[in-house]
Amino acid sequence: MYENRPGLETRSKIVATLGPASWNEPALSNLLRAGVDVCRINGSHADRATIRRLVADVRSAAAALRRHIAVLLDLQGPKIRVGELASPLALRGGDTLTIVMAESCPADGLRVGTTWPEMAADLVVGARLLFADGALSGIVTDIRHECDPAEVDVQIVDGGVLKSHQGINLPGIATSVPSLTEKDLGDVAVGVEAGVDYLALSFVRSAADVVALKERLARLGRPELPVIAKIEKPQAVAAIDEILVVADGVMVARGDLGVEVQLEEVPVLQKRILAAARRHRRLAITATQMLDSMERNPRPTRAETTDVANAILDGTDAVMLSGETATGSHPIEAVRTMDSIARSVESSEFFMAAERRSTDGAPVDVVIRAAVAAVADRPRPLVVFTLSGATAVKVSKTRPISPIFACTPDLHVADRLALCWGVTPVVVERTTSTDAMIASGVDVLRELGHVHVGEEIVVVGGRAHHAGANLLVFMTVTTSGY
Ligand code: PEP
Repeated sequence: MYENRPGLETRSKIVATLGPASWNEPALSNLLRAGVDVCRINGSHADRATIRRLVADVRSAAAALRRHIAVLLDLQGPKIRVGELASPLALRGGDTLTIVMAESCPADGLRVGTTWPEMAADLVVGARLLFADGALSGIVTDIRHECDPAEVDVQIVDGGVLKSHQGINLPGIATSVPSLTEKDLGDVAVGVEAGVDYLALSFVRSAADVVALKERLARLGRPELPVIAKIEKPQAVAAIDEILVVADGVMVARGDLGVEVQLEEVPVLQKRILAAARRHRRLAITATQMLDSMERNPRPTRAETTDVANAILDGTDAVMLSGETATGSHPIEAVRTMDSIARSVESSEFFMAAERRSTDGAPVDVVIRAAVAAVADRPRPLVVFTLSGATAVKVSKTRPISPIFACTPDLHVADRLALCWGVTPVVVERTTSTDAMIASGVDVLRELGHVHVGEEIVVVGGRAHHAGANLLVFMTVTTSGY
């Protein structure tokens, strides 16, 4: 059974969404102290000045705590919304709501505008529409292309109150909406300039959507910036293997996924997506409503606690908080709760058993396989020397029983590795020889108290210009280098 080393974070990482409840200095520092590894900025709710300010705030709070924290910018994507309403509309089953294909439309009677005026071209009579994350639903009964602008009538099935800017989902419909909107393109440029560590792409439908963002990043001179594909549409679930070839990770975005597919399918899809991420050795984040009731209450429900635990047992790299830390009344308690659930699961007999079973068959470099087999045989810290972070991700995805210390000379890589399961990032000196690299890296680890004189460790790394790990050293820590 794996035992967390005293002083080390949980192996599963915690992502916290920043918002009004957490984007002031004391709250941010307290979130990091409580166990947050990754701060998520939600592009749906942050303007460009806010993105810049939050990245700077996270960097200074992390530096003050001597922690490496990753910043993930979640792009809004082509979220289709209703336009501005003069006042909320109370809709009853049987009512006919008319969606006018214009961003702004005089909100008279049961008529609303939409942020995606091309919607009429994607719809057919009989299509099901959902509003406000599925709280309301309706069926398209008429499409009037001859009107200017075109109009779509929707007969309401599940009524409720519809408010300005609430989302519209078109489950099962292949929309022509571009994966990167004008707003996203602007946010990408600002995020890159501000120094975010990850970009999350919303409403991915195919690998091409991810490639489009990668191409944009290449044009901005940052082709290596990792992209997390949010899996929230059935088309993305169907194309998961192609998406995982090009994306650096996936997010099980259960909020929209639960609207786009039948709700009861979400648990199985979560397991499938996480299994696919393991097969491809890509990062996986499980998101949305994990501790939803903690937006209001200081303690979660038993069901929420079990949900977080099961995501960890399913092999997620990270669990995510959204409204709980962005707008909730108990953001710090929510992080502490997630941290304690992770600690409890990680010290149980089910944790490594489930993890090891789940990585069976995943293809991995022979050097990494040998290192992981060695620590399985006799637990010893795994010290990974990594320039780009890729070797550390590969080691992490094999779920070794021992702690992983990822040594890199690049501060940005260290921050990025904060998202990787079981990885403690450490910045080390840039050296010119392998011997010097190991000697100085182990010195830093010793000074930080991560390894001790006389302790056996397993060192893995790659040499420059060699794709993949090709260095494996078994050694005992001494005070006199390597
Ligand atoms: C989700 O839908 O679960 C999600 C994480 O996306 P967003 O919060 O952007 O709606």
